Amino acid sequence: MIHLDANGSTAMLPEVLEAMLPWLRDGHANPSGAYQSARLAREAIEEARAKVAAWIGAEADEIVFTSGGTESVNTALHSMDRLVGAGTVVVSAIEHSAVLRAAEDLTRPVKHAPVHADGRLDLEKFQALLSGAAMVSIMAANNETGVVQPVHEAAAMARERGIPIHSDVVQLAGKADLNVRHLGVDFLSLSAHKFHGPKGVGALYVRRGIRFYPLMKGGTQENARRAGTENVPGIVGLGAIAAILTNRGAEHGALRVMRVMRDSFESKLLQELPGVTVNGSTIHRLPNTSHLSFEGCEAVELIQLLDQAGLECSAGSACMAGKIRPSHVQLAMGIDGARGRGSLRFSFSILNTPAEAHNAAEIVIAAVNRLRDGTGRGGVPGLRTTVCGLGET
Ligand code: PLP
Repeated sequence: MIHLDANGSTAMLPEVLEAMLPWLRDGHANPSGAYQSARLAREAIEEARAKVAAWIGAEADEIVFTSGGTESVNTALHSMDRLVGAGTVVVSAIEHSAVLRAAEDLTRPVKHAPVHADGRLDLEKFQALLSGAAMVSIMAANNETGVVQPVHEAAAMARERGIPIHSDVVQLAGKADLNVRHLGVDFLSLSAHKFHGPKGVGALYVRRGIRFYPLMKGGTQENARRAGTENVPGIVGLGAIAAILTNRGAEHGALRVMRVMRDSFESKLLQELPGVTVNGSTIHRLPNTSHLSFEGCEAVELIQLLDQAGLECSAGSACMAGKIRPSHVQLAMGIDGARGRGSLRFSFSILNTPAEAHNAAEIVIAAVNRLRDGTGRGGVPGLRTTVCGLGET
């Protein structure tokens, strides 16, 4: 099986698992306890905090551990909502549903900043929306297209007006340089499983000096910023992958190989298949993502043929009750109709191999040809997967 759905999730690196195993096996003490094993758990948490901080250019006391990207996002938006004055919340039109739904749930109106046809935030229109805004959230890289957003520029505009800004960096983290001081944001959300760490753990960066209001209320864990007994193995795993990424540096060899794999996969399809379009900017793009539309194909049918042939990827559009419709990201980019329905997202990880990239392209070419000549139409009876997952990834 070739897995090209790394934007959905990634496998843990063996070193990460190794770091976690002792805590899964023996580390049952509650870190809030007043005895030796609890103190050791507390130390492990603080060590992981220092590693995450060092990786993203933050201070340890600016890191709050959470249960993942969704909780980090909800916490950041909730905190800003409780502490800023009247005004709108401005989010980009292409945010992940974690941000969109959390923003809708706040006490203030939501304004959606549009993107250009290449999927990049329209900074002029964003700036115009800032008059009347009290808080902002702009993602760093889109989960569907991989298009990297001008967060640094957006943050500078928000800062000029004294408006706090959060960035969802869930997809950028581990795939490109990430430094909180360079981005200039007040809050930033991470999720470990998107960059070879464990599921169910993430971090929220809270800039020193910014006022904070917790979402999870209860005990005083995480410096009273996130109540609840800590997920020690998960936090240790996040610390382990953060240390690995810090040691490798921003543009390490494995990332370069991943980019070459993605590019060779994409060029093979563009060369050998007519009617293929790359969606979104190819300049400002994560090194692992390829979002493609296949003329004359329905993603629902194509994805089943690919799964049957041993290639796992994701529909490039939204999926509801077995029907493909353009996602909010595609609609924001002006991608509609057949181009929207015939799009797939392929996302590589550093664990894929060049041979897999080559074989994946061969599999896609064969499947698209089968759909186009009619021999692959009608779906695959008895196939184990449902094309539509349960949510946005
Ligand atoms: N933000 C983005 C851009 C994502 O891609 C995801 C996951 O799909 C999330 C937030 C939510 O992360 P998690 O599912 O780990 O809570």
